[in-house]
Amino acid sequence: PPDVSELGRSSWTLLHSIAATYPENPSTKEQQDLKQFVKLFGNFYPCWFCRDDFVKYIDKNEPKVETQDNFGKWLCEAHNEVNVKLGKPKFNCNLWKQRWKNGWDN
Ligand code: FAD
Repeated sequence: PPDVSELGRSSWTLLHSIAATYPENPSTKEQQDLKQFVKLFGNFYPCWFCRDDFVKYIDKNEPKVETQDNFGKWLCEAHNEVNVKLGKPKFNCNLWKQRWKNGWDN
């Protein structure tokens, strides 16, 4: 089975990178597609105990997909939920774009 930490780091990189390239003003179709993608990503996440909690989290907290910043912050909060579960520090979600889009130096 995949290494849970390695899988996690790769998956968060993919997801936050999708947030960083998602349109600032997405069409209705893009919004529907992203919401669907996040749900399906959760359904097929290859770590069952991670998947169970993530799917429950999505059920209670619908992905916010209205703008790039909405989605970036929603995803950051979802990631923080896992950070807390694992006893890791919470990330400041006002900084998601610096970390995943603009780079710390900009
Ligand atoms: P990661 O948490 O992988 O983060 C990578 C980098 O992202 C960090 O170095 C930091 O720069 C940045 N970052 C950190 N927090 C945020 C944030 N909130 N927003 C934006 N950027 C941030 N592991 C388990 O053991 N049990 C689980 O139940 C579990 N569930 C998971 C569910 C999902 C959907 C995913 C994708 C992963 C899950 N993981 C789980 C894996 C776990 O989240 C970590 O990926 C893994 O522990 C490695 O952690 P890390 O410290 O290397 O950094």
